[in-house]
Amino acid sequence: MGTLIKDAIVITVDSARRILDPGAVYIEGARIVEVGPSAELAARRAGFASRVIDGRGKVVAPGFVNVHSHAGFNIFRGRSEDAGFKAPTGLYFPMSTVMTREDRAALGALSYAELVRSGCTSVMELEEDVECLAPFVETLGVRSAMGEMLGDADPDKMVKGEFAFDEKANAEQMARATGFAQRWHTKADGRITAIMAPNMTISSSPAQLRAARAAADKLGLRLTIHLGWSAFEHTTARRIHNQGSFEFARDNGLVAKDVVATHCYVVADSDIDILAESGAHVAHCPLMNAFRGLIAPVNQMRAKGINVALGIDNMFGDYFDVIRSAVTCARIKTGDPVALLSSDALEMATMAGARAMGMEKEIGSVEAGKRADLIMLDFRALGLQPVLDPVQNLAYHAHAHDVDMVMVDGRILVEGGEMKTIDRLAVIDAATRASKSAWVRFEKKYGATIAA
Ligand SMILES: [Zn+2]
Repeated sequence: MGTLIKDAIVITVDSARRILDPGAVYIEGARIVEVGPSAELAARRAGFASRVIDGRGKVVAPGFVNVHSHAGFNIFRGRSEDAGFKAPTGLYFPMSTVMTREDRAALGALSYAELVRSGCTSVMELEEDVECLAPFVETLGVRSAMGEMLGDADPDKMVKGEFAFDEKANAEQMARATGFAQRWHTKADGRITAIMAPNMTISSSPAQLRAARAAADKLGLRLTIHLGWSAFEHTTARRIHNQGSFEFARDNGLVAKDVVATHCYVVADSDIDILAESGAHVAHCPLMNAFRGLIAPVNQMRAKGINVALGIDNMFGDYFDVIRSAVTCARIKTGDPVALLSSDALEMATMAGARAMGMEKEIGSVEAGKRADLIMLDFRALGLQPVLDPVQNLAYHAHAHDVDMVMVDGRILVEGGEMKTIDRLAVIDAATRASKSAWVRFEKKYGATIAA
């Protein structure tokens, strides 16, 4: 017995980019069995459905695949957005020394809940002590590639501009990352996968990047790293590694076809060539990047055949803002008002993300045989009518609060706009408490914050 969604507008993001209006989707267990015109499909499948969802006024689309996230970083919401490039060394690294496991779990839970509520069915997450988030991810029911964020440079020295690599820290972090992989990779019915996630080239020794690559190859994991995120990164990489940041990453195994390179907004043409030649994927985080005053040359990357997917990164909770930012940023960057279209942005938010996660055969589109990771938006809403083009309305006018239903592996996580697998208010209140106590410890250790 399955679930039938009928009489909806179905945006498939399949290879023909079909939009069925009205369309129907029939799901059994964790998989989509059939997608097609509503009247014919519904008549044939209704007798087999234990549940029929009325899709009138609704739009069904693939769940978003968010390929870059630091769930616990919402602790910087309201502190980091106006802090510019002082944020990593002035806020992120210092906070990592005072945040407790409980704080991180509580704040991370809030971000994951927000992401699901805004239509993300898959999340690539990197965090220090990422394991503390795994039980919540399992309960919530979202799909997540999770990586222990690695960096063997001493954070307290890095705040002062010194880069000292610590063999003991590397060994401890690698043990934690591989231990997490051994305990959680393919768990939660396969929804949780482990990844190797060195933070960036200037906070990792060559030995650490090589250790991460070796562990990934041994355990069958994918990898991710921040690359091309500031001029400071490039000059520092040359100073401490005697190599450009992209060359250093490539030569130590962190630019390759199983790697997601995040940001890439401060890049030379030669850096783009390195990405293109390797088959690495880019996690483009246009909303976060715009807050730093920078825009990745996405059109140039796409023209070179690079798979560019989207990530929300820090602080933000509405994935539709990321989709819109991809379009507006590409148009500002190129000066071309049709540089990127809504259909391109939706493809980047879904299929490109699926490819970046190595799951393009399983997720990213609403197609028979794929996992039932999909969302349904209520378009009978202020701001969403009339519907002349459902893709443009979704990309330019929808918000998280328009998401009516979210399904992962055929299981409904959000219904009628409400979270079904967790207590939303308990998650919000726990995150608020954790943030307050962590900031008290931060200010006790480091004094007034840089962005206060
Ligand atoms: Zn990041």
